[in-house]
Amino acid sequence: MRFLQVLPFVILGLGLIWALGTQVHSTPPAGEAVPPSTQPTTKIEKVVKTDAEWRKILTPDQYYILRQQGTERPFRNEFWNHHEPGTYACAGCGLELFTSDTKFDSGTGWPSYYSTVPGHVHTSKDSDGRRDALSCERCDGHLGHVFDDGPKPTGLRYCIDSGALKFVTKK
Ligand SMILES: [Zn+2]
Repeated sequence: MRFLQVLPFVILGLGLIWALGTQVHSTPPAGEAVPPSTQPTTKIEKVVKTDAEWRKILTPDQYYILRQQGTERPFRNEFWNHHEPGTYACAGCGLELFTSDTKFDSGTGWPSYYSTVPGHVHTSKDSDGRRDALSCERCDGHLGHVFDDGPKPTGLRYCIDSGALKFVTKK
């Protein structure tokens, strides 16, 4: 009797697992494929924390930029004039966002890149609706803004706050 009572739930559970499994493994139909340069290699698991948790793990500067959409001062930040080879990761969650080979000297006093690690940065309108704000794909931390006056090959300028980044030296 007991077994019969739980049986429907067991079947439902197995069905769910099966459905999730096929979703993960299914490939997009031909013709809808996105070019490799814009497609993330793997689905990014979101990092979600409460405001109190972010305050605990971030410095006040990092918190101001990543969680309150703040902007740091130009020429007085860690990476505007930084030229070592390596990767710039999110200071909030560690996701790789930019690489040194796409960094260029924009003259603005903020670290600037002409492209991102594919799929790791997303764009949305600023609260004033004018500028395109950038966020980390994994933790939604605010990174900076993107403008269309960048160099070739993309013509884009990703203008980033150093405080949103952590540098990882190339080994
Ligand atoms: Zn992040």
